[in-house]
Amino acid sequence: MPGDYAWIAPIFATTERGVDAMRTIADPPLAEIRGSSPRYADVMNGRSRIFYLSADKPDGIRGYGFRGVVIDEAAMIDKVAWDYVIRPALTDYAGWGLMLGTPKGRNHFFDWWTRGQDAGEPEWASLSFPSASNPYLPAGEIAAAQAGMPADAFRQEYLAEFLEDHAGVFRGIDDCLTQAPCTHSGPFVVGCDLAKHQDFTVLVALCQQCGCGRQIDRFNRIDWPEQKFRIRAFCARWSNAQLYVDATGVGDPIYDDLRAAGLNVRPFKFGAQSKRALVQALMVAVEQRMIRWPVDWEVLTNELRRYEYQYSRTGEVHYSAPEGYHDDCVMALGLATMGLRGFIRPQVFDSASGNSAAKLRASDKRLDELIGGVTDCELREELTRLAEQEVR
Ligand SMILES: [Zn+2]
Repeated sequence: MPGDYAWIAPIFATTERGVDAMRTIADPPLAEIRGSSPRYADVMNGRSRIFYLSADKPDGIRGYGFRGVVIDEAAMIDKVAWDYVIRPALTDYAGWGLMLGTPKGRNHFFDWWTRGQDAGEPEWASLSFPSASNPYLPAGEIAAAQAGMPADAFRQEYLAEFLEDHAGVFRGIDDCLTQAPCTHSGPFVVGCDLAKHQDFTVLVALCQQCGCGRQIDRFNRIDWPEQKFRIRAFCARWSNAQLYVDATGVGDPIYDDLRAAGLNVRPFKFGAQSKRALVQALMVAVEQRMIRWPVDWEVLTNELRRYEYQYSRTGEVHYSAPEGYHDDCVMALGLATMGLRGFIRPQVFDSASGNSAAKLRASDKRLDELIGGVTDCELREELTRLAEQEVR
């Protein structure tokens, strides 16, 4: 039917996908792409126009009357843009809406989907397809993703399941609690997250053989020299443990000092990507019970239970403690986990565009740089060397 239509994406960059799709299916003169702000396609000599708009600037959508809209990555648009701008733009012509996307928890996209499943809502219909039903996606790629991803991420991104919000980032925490820590005499690995502002410096020692937590220390409001002293004493107590330390910002000179003091220390710089990788690696470690810790480490256990994830507009997942809570114990545990034997290398997932193997490899390399280029093999060599020194 002649008239105005819209292809709406969460951000401007992703509207280009709609433009590309149009170019693929219709050449001029059937459809001609024009304009820049906004872009639009003239269809059938201008009898219909399809506007390519982004929902992050809802004011740019005001004033239109659409006969139909397609919303791409609909779970990631702001609900306010739908309620106040897009939905009203469909009123004049009683237009239709087609919302496409991958679930992002139980947000407005989930509400729409459930309305489509409700016989009492005849104006709504919803359909769900797992990635496996896509004939263009190699089955091996899906199996590879399943093997390397946290179960929740796989269920959401590949099985298109709407997962409960606040269901928690870490699954299987209860199975990791122990009444009786191991009695192995080493070697040990220590993770250290440094206090930056109001938060705490946390040290966690894990048995490198079996992943059992042996000691946690948490302190704040102590000056740097005193902190360095406590870190050194802690590592010394645990057989001069391999130390993974937060070397972000003020942590960088601390790392230098600790290294100069002769500690067996590796730096880890926290950035959006490296933090995501570290948390996802810890998710796998908890879920697969590669680590455990004493039941009375309640501060750590509670931080893990409270941990949350959110999606940015670009579809990247971000992990953090809820507003007003700390996550230094989680970070320290994650850092310690990196030093475990048989530990899976953290992988960087990009849930917006899926996991191409090449991309994962590239991310792996970047992460290697972040953690100082240590390979498992080098780590083992180093530990052997240390063990020999001990014997002498
Ligand atoms: Zn042990």
